[in-house]
Amino acid sequence: MTPRELEALPCAGGEKKFRAAQIFSWIARGAVSFDEMDNLPLSLRKKLESAYRLRSVSVSETLRGADGTVKLRLGLDDGAAIEAVLLKARETGARGDEDGGRFTACLSTQAGCPAGCVFCKTGSLGFLRNLSAAEIVEQFLVLNSVSKSGVSHVVVMGMGEPLLNLEALGKALGIIIHPEGIGLSKRRITVSTSGIESGIYALAEKGPLTELAVSLTTAREDLRRRLMPFAGLAGLEGLKKALKAWQQNRGRRVTLETVLLGGINTTADDAEALVRFTRGLKTAINVIPWNPVEGLLFEGKALRAPERAEIDGFRARLEAAGLTVTRRYRRGQGVAGACGQLGVT
Ligand code: SF4
Repeated sequence: MTPRELEALPCAGGEKKFRAAQIFSWIARGAVSFDEMDNLPLSLRKKLESAYRLRSVSVSETLRGADGTVKLRLGLDDGAAIEAVLLKARETGARGDEDGGRFTACLSTQAGCPAGCVFCKTGSLGFLRNLSAAEIVEQFLVLNSVSKSGVSHVVVMGMGEPLLNLEALGKALGIIIHPEGIGLSKRRITVSTSGIESGIYALAEKGPLTELAVSLTTAREDLRRRLMPFAGLAGLEGLKKALKAWQQNRGRRVTLETVLLGGINTTADDAEALVRFTRGLKTAINVIPWNPVEGLLFEGKALRAPERAEIDGFRARLEAAGLTVTRRYRRGQGVAGACGQLGVT
């Protein structure tokens, strides 16, 4: 709930308005019971306790990787399960690609995902349902409580396609950036989409005003359709137009992510197509070597991670064309919490 919604709680009738701000602030600080809210009158705490609860998700499993990654399996009210991940950046950047000391919360927006990208475990599970704003915010709160120095960044790159659940996402991010609560800067939040055109226009017009990343994978139209077969995804021309509109309104760079799949999208043609796609856009490119997921096939053949030479060659071609390229290091593989590996089975 936003502070305004808290003010309107029936049990807060007759209470001073600043009580809503106090409750909001307690929740942001991770309170898990109304009893902890010791600056509220006991009578109000009791009323709240009998009518509301502070958590709807429960942590069913905590997996900790040697690289500092923490993956949480979370059970939802209706028995559905999701995952959320805390990623710790390297202490010292490698080739300037990562900032030391950041804790990034990777949040899910759906249980399962309807997009069905062939390289993604979540996509192989099918779609169960959209998450509520509360279920999205709670992932942040739980991850915040397990990180040593608190979450500093958010990426909405977990399970699901965020722009297919834009209303709940908008509300959740509004709560996460609210200055009376968690107060995270919107500049530290990145929403990643597989390319939902109408959602990108909606972001451009109404927000949330975060950073934007697009999981492009390849800028070869035919190959993209085969790797990312969801009918709701924009064609490349429509996608580029939507990104231009977003940039016009937001004035920010868009990150284009390409998951590199060994022997499939690492060719010179793929690099050239990507360079062409970026013309007229302000972009940063993020290359992500595919994180293995057993059993995923592309047109009958098992997917494989790219060889070092494929990664370096692809990156070099982009850099030679003057693009800004970062390589995402494999974080979270030890707990199957890396990009594309999420999915409770
Ligand atoms: S990559 Fe993202 S959009 Fe594609 S199936 Fe996985 S979760 Fe869904």
